[in-house]
Amino acid sequence: MMDDLIHLSPNPWKATLRNIFAARVAKGDANATAWSFRQSGVVEINYGFTNAAMIYAALFMQYFDAISTIASEVDLSMEDSEVLGWILAEIDQGVSEPILLAESSRELWRREGAIFVGHPSLADVPRRRLDSYQLAAAATEEFALAHEICHHMLGHTEKTFKHAGEIEKTVISWIRRAGSYDLWSGLNASQKEEVQADVAAFLLMSGELNGTFNRGLTYKAVSGSMLALTALAHISEHWFSDDQQESHPDFLDRFSVVSGIIVGLSTGLPRGGKGDHPLGFLLQFRGFISMVLQTWISKHDNSVNLPTFLNTFSWLLDEGADIDNLLDEA
Ligand SMILES: [Zn+2]
Repeated sequence: MMDDLIHLSPNPWKATLRNIFAARVAKGDANATAWSFRQSGVVEINYGFTNAAMIYAALFMQYFDAISTIASEVDLSMEDSEVLGWILAEIDQGVSEPILLAESSRELWRREGAIFVGHPSLADVPRRRLDSYQLAAAATEEFALAHEICHHMLGHTEKTFKHAGEIEKTVISWIRRAGSYDLWSGLNASQKEEVQADVAAFLLMSGELNGTFNRGLTYKAVSGSMLALTALAHISEHWFSDDQQESHPDFLDRFSVVSGIIVGLSTGLPRGGKGDHPLGFLLQFRGFISMVLQTWISKHDNSVNLPTFLNTFSWLLDEGADIDNLLDEA
């Protein structure tokens, strides 16, 4: 994984990156850290985060599988409405129940040491999605690793890194381009660094930093960033916060900046062979995140119902039409 990121980095970074040691450490809390030691960078990814990456990739695969089932395998015009209702309820349950299960595991998860090697949601990954599941879980971990590496490369851990100024300029110009400059300027110093690391990590994974930007890398960066931010927000319950003192911005800020980068980078890309597009992929994540978020809110606010997959699906259809229009105009 570290080798992949070195490969994607601009040439001036490579020597420094070879001096960064990345390791998984057996800590249960879902976190990662970067620190430096005598000019060498260290990145630690807690096993708890790896575990979270696996669980959220599994939840997303169930949701993703439901979208393709309902879109291509269910005849919504079938005469027997009772059978149709039964099929749709089954699909709905297949998506909603694993999210609820993850929601109910959260407390245990947050306590250090509680690692769900055999979390029940992992057993429910649809067989035909196993490869995609592995890729999504790996991409999620890669985003966390890229984020920590970028703290080093941006000079957040060691002020002496000599290319930090260039990368910082690139990152700020992308934050501007994504329409997020005002949001970013309003954050405290530590939160600003977090947003910079997110943006740099996305640019690195998508190949933008070394001129190899392409569709495949973009898909990987979209799934890695979205799943990583969602998993962290869900576990830490840091969806939205007004606390100006916190070290990390809340989920909504981080999500909004990274989404802006995705739109900025990929709007000009043509559709893929199946009519697919990174903006369509981002939309699917927005639907998924809204289900995870609504599940969490419903636990804290009795007036909010649990989400249903069918509502999300019809929302996806509406929003998808808007994206089609946008791409046709681009
Ligand atoms: Zn960070």
